[in-house]
Amino acid sequence: MKVPQILLIYTGGTIGMIKDFETGALKAFNFDQLLQSIPELKLLDCEIRTVSFDAPIDSSNMQPEYWIQICEFIEEGYAKYDGFVVLHGSDTMSYSSSALSFMLEHLSKPVIFTGSQLPIGDLRTDAKENLITAIQIAALQDNDQPLIQEVCLYFEYKLYRANRTTKVSAEQFEAFDSPNYPPLVESGVHLSIDKKALLPKDNTPLIVRKKLETHIVVIKLFPGITEVVLSCMLESKGIKGVVLETFGAGNASQSRWFINLLKATIARGVPIVNVTQCNGGSVQMGNYETSVALADIGLINGKDMTTEAALVKMMYLLGQDLDVITFKRTFETSLRGEMA
Ligand code: ASP
Repeated sequence: MKVPQILLIYTGGTIGMIKDFETGALKAFNFDQLLQSIPELKLLDCEIRTVSFDAPIDSSNMQPEYWIQICEFIEEGYAKYDGFVVLHGSDTMSYSSSALSFMLEHLSKPVIFTGSQLPIGDLRTDAKENLITAIQIAALQDNDQPLIQEVCLYFEYKLYRANRTTKVSAEQFEAFDSPNYPPLVESGVHLSIDKKALLPKDNTPLIVRKKLETHIVVIKLFPGITEVVLSCMLESKGIKGVVLETFGAGNASQSRWFINLLKATIARGVPIVNVTQCNGGSVQMGNYETSVALADIGLINGKDMTTEAALVKMMYLLGQDLDVITFKRTFETSLRGEMA
């Protein structure tokens, strides 16, 4: 059996940061230095090659151009490597990994995002376990094929489907959750793999979708939101799509001005997707009186998608130049296991 080849892509994040002595703040650091802190990597049963952003970033500076860059590393190494591990800051890791899940169509190899809450040089770091297990999982084979063939996020003993995750803690090592989908793998004494939860194998060749539309707004509703504020957002120049975070199971105000404003936005050809502000559960338009009108005027049902997944799915689908009906139908279909 051939030894799995893994490409490690370093983009930045706490995992490779050190303290600036003048300011006391954490800043991105040199990748080679980072690798020297983990001699254990040599003990792994796979061959690891590395590439790095020229200037590693704090992931709060993440931009879609960087997602394209990560996709290009994967595209260039796709034939050669059996799996990919992306080291990324945790702040926007759910956005980036969700974005890549849509950008990498017909993926048949693992792309595993990981990072850490403490720098790798820190005595109590969570970085080593996260990195070592992420690489081990990326190297898992089943009948000479990669076992995992989708974009995932590994953090604190759990491997999740990336587009189901959200960052839930800026403090705990358990920084991510996947409220509407079970972990794919749990790491204990052994790796416990939930094979039924994995995406099925896809034999079609990889297509990398690099066209993303970013003129999008995410609006979180709150009791007291005014017509002036909402119309400012919905009518802002060049807006191409809206992710609306509603209450509970997809409910919102029944005020006439509110419904009319949404209706006019959709009539201008700007799609609005309905996602819930709740951490878990699903939009069910029509369940309450307060969501009947939203379905009637044509809001897209975001079902149990995270806001992160809905946002990047909007960027991706707006980049595909679909007509209005196909756009809505495609949005309401699970493309990469991101919704029920
Ligand atoms: N600010 C850091 C980042 O997202 C936090 C982390 O890596 O956990 O790059």
